[in-house]
Amino acid sequence: MDPREIAHHLGRLVKGSILCMESMQRHTSWRIGGPADIMILPADADDIRLCLQFARDLNIPLTVMGNGTNLLVKDKGIRGIVLKIAQGFNNIEVNGAKITAEAGALLPMVARRAAESGLSGLEFAIGIPASVGGAVRMNAGAHGRCIGEVVTQVKVVTTGGQIEILQNGQIGFDYRKSSIKDNNLIVLSADFSLVAGDPAGIAEASHVNLAKRRRSQPLECPNAGSVFANPAGQWAGWLLEQVGAKGMRVGDAEVSDKHANFIINRGEATAEDVLTLTTRLRQLVQEKFNIELKLEVQVVGE
Ligand SMILES: Cc1cc2nc3c(=O)[nH]c(=O)nc-3n(C[C@H](O)[C@H](O)[C@H](O)COP(=O)(O)OP(=O)(O)OC[C@H]3O[C@@H](n4cnc5c(N)ncnc54)[C@H](O)[C@@H]3O)c2cc1C
Repeated sequence: MDPREIAHHLGRLVKGSILCMESMQRHTSWRIGGPADIMILPADADDIRLCLQFARDLNIPLTVMGNGTNLLVKDKGIRGIVLKIAQGFNNIEVNGAKITAEAGALLPMVARRAAESGLSGLEFAIGIPASVGGAVRMNAGAHGRCIGEVVTQVKVVTTGGQIEILQNGQIGFDYRKSSIKDNNLIVLSADFSLVAGDPAGIAEASHVNLAKRRRSQPLECPNAGSVFANPAGQWAGWLLEQVGAKGMRVGDAEVSDKHANFIINRGEATAEDVLTLTTRLRQLVQEKFNIELKLEVQVVGE
């Protein structure tokens, strides 16, 4: 079915916005990627369930995204429906030492609310530009801590459209992953269990973490954070630095000279440029250290 026709049918079902042939450059922190046939910004959980059912009935592929800060979208774009969990899902509620945040809320906003409420536990997350849904799915982490340590339960939609509550132990949090993807679940919200702390101390720790990031990461250029996951007991950035990665370039994709595990978009980088560069980097690390680097960024599209 033609994307416009699909959009027309969906327009009668959902309350959220529907975009046709939407450039993914506008929705990824790397500013890279061809068009999504259809992008839906669901207004609520019912919209998500309707989209899932529609896609299943018509056998249309469906891709879920949050804030697009860990995505490499290929140059021909994404076929089918992209469900972007964003503006309809940005509520953050503080209740004692518990925060419930909807999946589209940005993690730095949740961390700020925690700090303002004198709650400690999310200082590490202040500079991770994730949505809550993406952070749970990726078990995002920094400064030695990760989301799986502070999340108590997560509300999800299953592929069958059921809403379920999963306790921490059921989510399979591991280094930069969780079972959310394996089970094709869509995160709707997450509960964070924090502890009352000294507001000045929390603000100071958050400030220190942000400053560390500004010093060590090329935040002035489009990027997607760490490109490769750290192999067990190693730092991908250190390994890459040892093979002379800093400054290596393919097209407009360049390894940052601030951080060797960051690839920045110098203007017109394509997904092809990034993938060619990552293949070279992998080869160099394999040859010198006999270590296989694995991508942390999620590659989607065609
Ligand atoms: C400058 C910069 C710094 C970064 N620093 C860090 C860091 O310190 N630590 C770290 O871990 N990461 C870091 N990242 C990477 C990135 O922010 C994380 O991986 C984050 O968890 C991705 O969240 P997102 O909402 O952007 O997800 P997206 O990039 O949109 O998607 C990532 C994955 O999550 C899935 N997903 C998104 N939303 C949902 C949902 N609601 N339900 C189910 N699945 C979903 C997608 O399908 C995809 O597989 C950084 C990125 C940038 C650009």
